[in-house]
Amino acid sequence: MGKVTGFLEIERHDRVYAPVTDRVKNYNEFVVPLSEKDLRDQAARCMNCGIPYCHGTGSAQPGATGCPVNNQIPDWNDLVYNGYWQEAARTLHSTNNFPEFTGRICPAPCEASCTLNIDDNPVTIKTIECAIVDTAFDNGWVTPEIAAVKTGQSVAVVGAGPAGLACAQQLARAGHDVHVYEKFAKAGGLLRYGIPDFKMEKHLIDRRVAQMEAEGVTFHYGAPVGGSTPGAVDPAELLKQYDAVALTGGAESPRDLPIPGRELGGIHFAMDFLTQQNRRVSGEAVNGTDILAAGKNVVVIGGGDTGSDCIGTSIRQGAKSVTQIEIMPAPPERENKALTWPNWPMKMRTSSSQAEGAAREFAVMTQSFEGEGGVVKKLNCVRVDAKFQPIPGTEFVLEADLVLLAMGFVSPVKEGLLTQLGVALDPRGNVAADLSHFTTSVDKVFAAGDMRRGQSLVVWAIREGRLCAQAIDRFLMGSTTLPR
Ligand SMILES: Cc1cc2nc3c(=O)[nH]c(=O)nc-3n(C[C@H](O)[C@H](O)[C@H](O)COP(=O)(O)OP(=O)(O)OC[C@H]3O[C@@H](n4cnc5c(N)ncnc54)[C@H](O)[C@@H]3O)c2cc1C
Ligand code: SF4
Repeated sequence: MGKVTGFLEIERHDRVYAPVTDRVKNYNEFVVPLSEKDLRDQAARCMNCGIPYCHGTGSAQPGATGCPVNNQIPDWNDLVYNGYWQEAARTLHSTNNFPEFTGRICPAPCEASCTLNIDDNPVTIKTIECAIVDTAFDNGWVTPEIAAVKTGQSVAVVGAGPAGLACAQQLARAGHDVHVYEKFAKAGGLLRYGIPDFKMEKHLIDRRVAQMEAEGVTFHYGAPVGGSTPGAVDPAELLKQYDAVALTGGAESPRDLPIPGRELGGIHFAMDFLTQQNRRVSGEAVNGTDILAAGKNVVVIGGGDTGSDCIGTSIRQGAKSVTQIEIMPAPPERENKALTWPNWPMKMRTSSSQAEGAAREFAVMTQSFEGEGGVVKKLNCVRVDAKFQPIPGTEFVLEADLVLLAMGFVSPVKEGLLTQLGVALDPRGNVAADLSHFTTSVDKVFAAGDMRRGQSLVVWAIREGRLCAQAIDRFLMGSTTLPR
């Protein structure tokens, strides 16, 4: 373990953010890393618990606690405390293909499960994870891991989000010939086109793609599989050409708000807005009419990560005001640990974007939009009770020139790829595939990530990509030596 008395002697001390006035001037990351001494001190706080709840239960079922990829957290805390950074990087990569993504944007269920979180002082696990992988890249320790033996088997992976990337990397390392088909111009999925640069800069994805190409993965961009758009790849051709196909296309159907006035201009799905800005930052062409928040009263409907990303982007574009409304009641400021630990608790959280100046309203339902000249101007709202029923007399009106719908995603897109392949869906409309074999109802077709589990987290996408690769390797070779 780190330092035996570390948790008694050393206070929790985490990364801070650059001041709001500075960070909203651009789209760069703004988290200030800790010094090496601080990192070693923080790692020294780890108690190497007999049952390290941080490390995760090993279950991929919803409701599992701790780290979804089962990062060996006490092990690398000890290595960092003792200054063995390269060994820490090796240990970290043994369970997580892309710790530089999770070290930046994971909500860190590991820290919620840490024993030291019982009194609100968990080990700064995410910060240490990020420092290990950043140090590894800075020192040139992250190099291609090229398979010694080729198997002669080939796999197509449809979708280059974190699930597809993790799946493809594992399969290439097992010696298979892996081809990734991605409908967009670049890899990364929601990491690239949803999550803004101020949370995660995109050169981090590019250097992983370079590593994967060196490991033998071939990327086909601008290659939608299914559908009838120009350049579309026929799914039947993939089935003929490859020994296995992995579906990792995400859950891209957004939840709509079908209330009076929805047809007005100025009301957009969050992803249409966020994707445009991510493309602007990276110099890619923006498709369609610009959706911009500058000088506007912006209302974001939905309180999750997507809503927060809309807030931070609107503020950087120069919005006049940003208000976020959420139908759920405000959660408690502090959880009841006796009831919640080591599970992920519902409690009030303020994201860095919300802290940049958004007004937040809870327990509010939108009843209708009103506009002038075909463009939205107002939202008619009402407060709701615990059963989401409108409370008479609590109606109010919000000024709105731009409304962003960030209420989550209902399922994968069915038209095109899924209907053409004819894969069975589960009752929620996701691709049906179990957690042991990842097989779908169609022979040699597998599914993982948001396309299988519904909208989730990057860390779960990585986890499922890895497990799916293991299942495909077993299917192709009869057995597998790929790690979970
Ligand atoms: C705005 C936003 C912010 C988020 N913030 C966070 C966060 O802070 N932390 C976190 O952990 N999670 C966050 N998430 C969730 C996280 O991004 C997703 O859970 C994760 O990206 C899912 O990975 P995936 O690989 O399954 O799918 P995706 O990332 O959706 O990738 C799917 C890929 O498949 C491609 N594709 C789809 N269909 C086809 C086809 N027919 N042919 C070819 N290509 C296809 C898509 O273009 C895309 O590149 C956020 C989500 C959103 C929308
Ligand atoms: S639960 Fe916290 S203190 Fe215990 S091993 Fe994990 S990181 Fe260390």
